[in-house]
Parts: sequence; structure tokens; C-alpha cells
Amino acid sequence: MTAKILVSACLMGHAVRYDGAAKPLSHPVIERWRAEGRLVTLCPEMSAGMPVPRPPAEIDGGRTGADVLSGTGRVVEKTGSDVSGAFRTGAENALSLALATNCRFALLIDGSPSCGSSFVYDGSFNGERVAGEGVTAVLLRQNGIEVFSDREVEVLVERLAGYSAARLMRRAKVAVA
Ligand code: SF4
Repeated sequence: MTAKILVSACLMGHAVRYDGAAKPLSHPVIERWRAEGRLVTLCPEMSAGMPVPRPPAEIDGGRTGADVLSGTGRVVEKTGSDVSGAFRTGAENALSLALATNCRFALLIDGSPSCGSSFVYDGSFNGERVAGEGVTAVLLRQNGIEVFSDREVEVLVERLAGYSAARLMRRAKVAVA
């Protein structure tokens, strides 16, 4: 079965970001993956019922998605509302979809309190970054799904090639045995 890739909906051109915009990713391989039926698109926050547009949200106090999952951190909107529960639900929805559709990989936009895979913002709403993952990215990784950021498309291309080659070798060994 083809290994699929869970993709942030905003990267696929869907206008689902907090400000009502999209952030489409332009790369030739995206069309190939789409034609191969590899792409599974989801916005975790919208899947949890959050509206578009919505107030910007960040993980409070310089913490990261892992803290939100464990209950020691919060996702807070600029208005002050605690939206941690919706972010956890969005992450669980993303994991359920990934497992149900054979997604071994995810391609998520970096910096988001949901989809960030190498950094998030620190809760000050001043553009300050903290190394770490958003809530969805960390839950996917905790469950064995390899997460790549929108700046790592080439890395994912190489990883997919290695993954496919390894599967072919395994099949060849089974056929010989
Ligand atoms: Fe994009 Fe992810 Fe934010 Fe949805 S939750 S708007 S997919 S970055």
C-alpha cells in the first residue's frame, strides 16, 4: 500500500488559517504526490470546530505542544481565552485520520501551535520563537509518524525514496524465502 502523507490544509491552499488566509506550498513534487493519491489534507484546528477567522493563538509561557498534551502547558488566544482543549482535540483528530489512512509521514507548516515541527511562538505575541513542536506535530511523532516542515520537502522526497526501496527489498526477501 502507498505510504501517504498527512498535509496541513493551509499548505494545500485552503483558506483555514486564523486570519482567513492560506499559505500554499509551491513545489513540483506536490502535483506528483497528489496524482499518486498520497496526500491526506487536514486542518487540525478546524477539525476541532474552531472558526475561520479566529484570534491568533500561541502556547503560553515559552512552553511547547508536549506540555499542552501533558496538561502542564496551555494554548491561549490573544484575547486571553484558553483553547488548549480544542488544540488537543485537533491533534487527536489528525492522529486518527493519519492512522486510518496509512499516513506514515506528515508535512506540516512550521511555527503553528498545532502544526509547528521545529519551533513555535512563545506566547508573548511578539514574534519570539521557542524550539519545539506544536500539539499536533508532537502527538503524531509520539505515535511513530515522521513529521517534516514545509521547508523540508526535499528531505521528505529522499525519505520517501528510501522508505519505498526498503519496502521493495523486504518484499523481495519474502518472495525468495
Ligand atoms: Fe494550517 Fe495547521 Fe493552522 Fe490549520 S492548524 S491553519 S493546517 S497551520
